[in-house]
Amino acid sequence: MGIIMNVEKMPIDEAIEAKVINHIEEIFESEDASKEQLLYVLGNISKTSALHLYKKARMKSALSYDNRVYMRALIEFTNFCKQNCNYCGIRAGNQKVDRYRLTKEEILACCKEGYELGYRTFVMQGGEDNHFNDDMLVDIIKTIKDTYPDCAITLSFGEKDKETFQRYYDAGCDRYLLRHETASKALYEHLHPKPMSYGNRMACLSNLKEIGFQVGAGYMVGSPMQTNEDLANDLLFLKEFQPHMCGIGPYVCHNDTPFANQRTATVEETRVMVALTRLLCPKALLPAATAMGTVDPVGREKALKSGANVVMPKVTPRTVRAKYELYEDMICVDDEASHCRSCIEGRINIAGYQVDLQRGDHVDYEVK
Ligand code: SAM
Repeated sequence: MGIIMNVEKMPIDEAIEAKVINHIEEIFESEDASKEQLLYVLGNISKTSALHLYKKARMKSALSYDNRVYMRALIEFTNFCKQNCNYCGIRAGNQKVDRYRLTKEEILACCKEGYELGYRTFVMQGGEDNHFNDDMLVDIIKTIKDTYPDCAITLSFGEKDKETFQRYYDAGCDRYLLRHETASKALYEHLHPKPMSYGNRMACLSNLKEIGFQVGAGYMVGSPMQTNEDLANDLLFLKEFQPHMCGIGPYVCHNDTPFANQRTATVEETRVMVALTRLLCPKALLPAATAMGTVDPVGREKALKSGANVVMPKVTPRTVRAKYELYEDMICVDDEASHCRSCIEGRINIAGYQVDLQRGDHVDYEVK
């Protein structure tokens, strides 16, 4: 079993607590960290030093984005997937999944509803479904872009070759989310059976950046067998790669996978990683993952209070939402898009932040 930090403990030794705080201050100032520093913080973080870390992460986020939280409309357009990630509920091998895919018209109807609700970014996410070949997806991207030229399109559709990514980009796709999942090769191989490979995942991320996308990396916290060393590797990779976006969420068990009965991560473990990511990627757009709301009723608000600054409410048709079950007890599966929109806005305001419905590009990105 992997062992990661224990955020729940109270500080027991003043010198250790002081050293953790000192490292956090140094990482805040330099926006850099050594592996030793990260391992020390992860190994000795306590309830009180974690609160200090969250405060510093919030300060860092405010330097680039003030107290704004960007909203994206999430369209889960297919739950067919050819991959077999060991943690994921919609993996190809899960025979219990009731598979669906949206038609072009249904996707456009989601965009229309999203646009009317004020969203100016559409995030199209799906399993790796070969039904959507390059020509089909290019056509869908072009149609969305022609209909809503003031909106950004984000695609999250897994690993493709560089030519395909280029075609998506040329069609008008602005951003691409592809969580690296873990920056440790051995853990990657534990999470993903062949033919998936760590090398290809990383090559995809480099290709996306070279093409000119705003690129999102990201990882799960508390995935089976993960250690603090793996988490430190994630942070060092992100510091080096500097993604424009970074999705960080807790691993949540799904019992119809090879990882049945594994431990689900906690909200505080995930907050520590969101906060450290914020210190090392000061300008990144960091979503408060929906999975945070599964492990804690106010998990997304807690993520915002630890350096996150994006939320992605669903506009997926209610008829299929529950079928996009990546993990168990997913939230927002029964709600109307308009309900999700006002629910999350209320939560953001109560948490003390301001909703921003513009495209919300990375602060250094020049829109093409
Ligand atoms: N197929 C695309 C890809 O590979 O990037 C996008 C869809 S994939 C289902 C979206 C993300 O869901 C993954 O990057 C993974 O981190 C997350 N995910 C899947 N199963 C999960 C689980 N059991 N707990 C938490 N997150 C999970």
